[in-house]
Amino acid sequence: MADAFDEECDYLFKAVLIGDSGVGKSNLLSRFAKDEFRFDSKPTIGVEFAYRNIKIADKLIKAQIWDTAGQERFRAITSSYYRGALGALLVYDITRRSSFENARKWMVELREFGGKDMVVILVGNKCDLEQTREVEEEEAKGFAEREGLCFMETSALKNLNVDQVFLQMITRIHDSTSHKSL
Ligand code: GDP
Repeated sequence: MADAFDEECDYLFKAVLIGDSGVGKSNLLSRFAKDEFRFDSKPTIGVEFAYRNIKIADKLIKAQIWDTAGQERFRAITSSYYRGALGALLVYDITRRSSFENARKWMVELREFGGKDMVVILVGNKCDLEQTREVEEEEAKGFAEREGLCFMETSALKNLNVDQVFLQMITRIHDSTSHKSL
């Protein structure tokens, strides 16, 4: 990973991770930002974020990704979490049906606090746990289509589709006209 603070960038994109506690948000982020997987649960609460610089079409984009860092357990995510965010990964755990059903609630919040043109990707994480799957891919795809979201399954543990899902979000933000010039 390039040192995000030392390089000049053309654009800064803020994006957020949302979804129930324990679905793998912080591990997806550490995989993407630092390529590591954490087996421990996080000890602290409070919003965290990480950066990664990405080059798209000759432009250097600094992606700033925010993680709820446990606050979602208390439904304590406020409008400032979403403020200025151009994209969101709405994550559920394919082995925990309730986390998929709660995606609807997260969509309500996203619509309330997020911008109209936000790029949202529905992410079914833990796809390495096929034997305990509770949410079929087809069902999630159908939900994503009805809600106008992109959809992808990932495994933070096995590092499957992690870069792809973040890069898809960032590319889509880049391709939309709403990106901010630094
Ligand atoms: P968060 O609360 O949504 O940020 O979830 P965490 O990233 O803290 O992960 C919660 C638990 O799920 C941890 O025990 C992780 O080790 C585990 N976990 C996260 N991603 C995966 C994955 O892709 N596969 C498997 N098998 N476990 C995962």
